[in-house]
Amino acid sequence: MAHYPFTDRPDLLVLTCTHVLEGADITMVCHHFNDNTWEFVCDGQHTEEEAIVLSIGELCETDPSLHLVCDLPVGAAATRKSRAHAWQFGRIGGEDYYPAADSRMP
Ligand SMILES: [Zn+2]
Repeated sequence: MAHYPFTDRPDLLVLTCTHVLEGADITMVCHHFNDNTWEFVCDGQHTEEEAIVLSIGELCETDPSLHLVCDLPVGAAATRKSRAHAWQFGRIGGEDYYPAADSRMP
């Protein structure tokens, strides 16, 4: 198996969208406080039908740059314009926030 940077199990199920499966760049990653879920989506508009669940290990194989967001604290989000741009880090509005010990967050 390819290098797997996330501390969660590689078979951890995360939310993503059908566009990402079809090759769209992931432009937003959220680590939600409420239920500890991860969300990896493109910048498109999403309907319920376009929301899918995939293992985090599979996503990492599709997009190796996801290792740059693997230490995202609970309550934080990372966004970027495209796969060619750097990740920008911030907090998710309205959610509590637990910074990681060696977090890159401001
Ligand atoms: Zn999408």
